[in-house]
Amino acid sequence: MNYRRLGKSGLKVSEISLGSWLTYGDSVERDGAVKTIDFAYEAGVNFFDTANVYNRGEAEKVVGEALRKYPRESYVLATKVFGPMGEGPNDKGLSRKHIFEQLHASLKRLGLDYVDIFYCHRYDPETPVEETLKAIDDLIRQGKILYAGVSEWSAAQLEEAVRIADRKLLDRIVVNQPVYNMLNRYIEKEVIPVGEKHGIGQVVFSPLAQGVLTGKYRKGGKIPEGSRASNPEQKKFIDRFLTDEKLDKVEKLSGIAADYNIKLSQLALAWVLRQENIASALIGASRPEQVEENIRAIDVNLTNETLEDISDILSE
Ligand code: NDP
Repeated sequence: MNYRRLGKSGLKVSEISLGSWLTYGDSVERDGAVKTIDFAYEAGVNFFDTANVYNRGEAEKVVGEALRKYPRESYVLATKVFGPMGEGPNDKGLSRKHIFEQLHASLKRLGLDYVDIFYCHRYDPETPVEETLKAIDDLIRQGKILYAGVSEWSAAQLEEAVRIADRKLLDRIVVNQPVYNMLNRYIEKEVIPVGEKHGIGQVVFSPLAQGVLTGKYRKGGKIPEGSRASNPEQKKFIDRFLTDEKLDKVEKLSGIAADYNIKLSQLALAWVLRQENIASALIGASRPEQVEENIRAIDVNLTNETLEDISDILSE
């Protein structure tokens, strides 16, 4: 495994990290989840991702249980706050109250004394950013969070966070977690440049477009049994990647992967990791074999010529 610095921080994370949305504590049963996390850990993955809202805390319980047997210093654990955890007016968002209560609830479910990274899962227009950053900073002083992060914040929102942190002498955010893959490149224009300017690393989620960039879904083909798209409750999340136009691109990209003698998943992950500002590609996996295939991406070096061929396909 290779490790990269997370933004300008001193924290080193594996180039491939493992998340738990829609899988652990959800569609993947407990033993399969623990086996997959164990496999990743043994293979050198040191960075694991979850959130309070993933199946209302169930993902945190499984991830915490799987990791608890390992030395605490050997892995980096991230969780998140923002989404609704109840029906009440204070059961969501980034208020000081919700942040404090949710961090403590997450620590309890995870069975940990601290999390390495605590993400603000989305921007909250109803709470002053200063209130949020101050609350996170206080939890950092208490040793319950080591690093502050955000997820899917725009370039302007990242700039705002940096400005306020500097003015108020609060810890800066060191990481943003946006979606990024061959079929969704929106962060290239503004988010990555702002990350580079301020030393904020990107940890990109859905680098395989939820499995579409493994080539297992084909235009006009059958949906593979047991896949995310075959699950009636999860299909709505992946549908946006299953259009004819996108599947045509996937077909062409599969040709490039074949020329390299690698899997499309490995091409897609190596392509994401070509950007220095991206510290880690955050994958999901329902089985150890998927992790095994995906982590081989770290050994793939793409030539400029291949990157141009990929770019031509993506801009068609
Ligand atoms: P991916 O794009 O990596 O998709 C993962 C899914 O693709 C797997 O669960 C599996 O689904 C399938 N897959 C993965 N590898 C292979 C393979 N080699 N062969 C065949 N199928 C494969 O990422 P996710 O969309 O799952 O997101 C990753 C993580 O990012 C999440 O777990 C979560 O932690 C985080 N995330 C964060 C968000 C945010 O708002 N901050 C939003 C979404 C995710 P299956 O086997 O079921 O088909």
